[in-house]
Amino acid sequence: MPDAKTHDKINIAVLIVILAGLSYLTIWKENEMAVGYLDIYRISVFSISYLFATFFLSPDLDIESKPYKRWKMFKILWWPYKVIFKHRGFSHNPVIGPLSIVINLALIVAVLLLLIGVDLYKIPLRFILAATAGMCLSMEIHIISDFLISKTKRYF
Ligand SMILES: [Zn+2]
Repeated sequence: MPDAKTHDKINIAVLIVILAGLSYLTIWKENEMAVGYLDIYRISVFSISYLFATFFLSPDLDIESKPYKRWKMFKILWWPYKVIFKHRGFSHNPVIGPLSIVINLALIVAVLLLLIGVDLYKIPLRFILAATAGMCLSMEIHIISDFLISKTKRYF
């Protein structure tokens, strides 16, 4: 399976391709639905969440991985996740993996926002959706990369 650096590179390359595709659809107004739905705010939230997930929310949070260590003193927040999920078990399931990580993060963020007095209902749903899409896609690319690279390694 690829190391953290390779995962980061693959994920960033995929994001560049996605952003190029979205620019093509919106700037040249190729697709009416894309033009209506995709604004610069949604795309920014999507991209930032995707990058954040690439560096901090990898399915490899189930081991002492680079993304896990990047949380520094806050890695304690992911300690229960690491203990519950055995490596490359459910965390690398294409449905349960991203879902469990996003739910874990949502709980952490919700508690944090409530503590500083932010009204959770005031966060626009379109940004929550864009952020969730960005994070889930980043994790799916990780899971697909793990799968493809371990499969090709078997042939050599
Ligand atoms: Zn992995």
